[in-house]
Amino acid sequence: MSTWEKNIRKVVPYTPGEQPNEKNMIKLNTNENPYPPSPKVLAAKEDLEQLRLYPDPVAKDLVHALADYHGLSDDQIFVGVGSDDVLAMSFLTFFNSDKPIFFPDITYSFYDVWADLFRIPYETKALNDAFEIEAEDYYPENGGVIFPNPNAPTGLLADLGFVRDVLDHNRDVIVIVDEAYIDFGGESAISLLPGYENLIVVRTFSKSRSLAGLRIGYAMGNPKLIKALNDVKYSYNSYTMNYPSIVLGVESIRDDAYFKETVSKIIATREWFEKELTRLGFTYPKSYSNFVFASHKSVPAREIFEEAKKKHIYVRYFDKPRINQYLRITIGTDEEMKAVVSFLEEIL
Ligand code: PMP
Repeated sequence: MSTWEKNIRKVVPYTPGEQPNEKNMIKLNTNENPYPPSPKVLAAKEDLEQLRLYPDPVAKDLVHALADYHGLSDDQIFVGVGSDDVLAMSFLTFFNSDKPIFFPDITYSFYDVWADLFRIPYETKALNDAFEIEAEDYYPENGGVIFPNPNAPTGLLADLGFVRDVLDHNRDVIVIVDEAYIDFGGESAISLLPGYENLIVVRTFSKSRSLAGLRIGYAMGNPKLIKALNDVKYSYNSYTMNYPSIVLGVESIRDDAYFKETVSKIIATREWFEKELTRLGFTYPKSYSNFVFASHKSVPAREIFEEAKKKHIYVRYFDKPRINQYLRITIGTDEEMKAVVSFLEEIL
């Protein structure tokens, strides 16, 4: 190996779900929202001449709209290019101890990638047999804690008592709750922010706000933590939020009625789909997200996954220990889910 090769940083990257682009496909593999963004977003007037200028580095309008929406102050909000960017910045900013950070063994598969990239030691904690996170696993000394709530890809929700329990046993490190899916049925940890100055809550516009393509995520926490995040961001890339994201993000926040309507449609479809899955012989943890994590009693998950693909139905399959008998199926429109049920009836 040549010397220059030895100097290259070697990482095993995160593998995102496939992004096929076929006519008439049913795409249920990356937890996107099946409904279009709010009509207010679609009708927003952007002054594209503004693109000549650098965007507002503090994304003040978006930060202010989010602060207002959540009843927080502007200095409690940090925005980034999708929650992936916000989470990566948070790893870089908050996880600087020699002690390992803790996260579940079955969880968002980007966490170990960031830990490796930033050379952060970590330990994973096994979910129990019901796929629940055990609070006691997070009691021992550590360099920080992160978990999604609801967890992905299981869709299981932990209640606020659990979150409080983890926080009470981790007063000296940063605890990050990744709430990418919280709008689909959970109680947010935002209400715990006043009591815990070491808590960071992360959200995204990609799922419940139908804006995966725009890339907006945000973190909420006490002003000291938000300042630390901004200091790291400005040491890396000052202009992360582009002008259209700022304008359209604000419009999305303004249309709360549409947001609530689409979220409740997805929840209703999910409940119908769960019943259908039961009828077809699947088991799954009760979902609190916009996907269901389901396993069939006799047909291997991989087989269903491959057959579905042939019919242009895309779902997510993880070839990993403990979960290789499960499919993660995003909730689409009623029509899409009916087509999935017909497909399942046929192949089972
Ligand atoms: N957290 C979790 C748990 C996720 O599943 C995802 C979606 N892949 C993200 C964060 C990142 O989403 P985005 O970058 O689109 O905000």
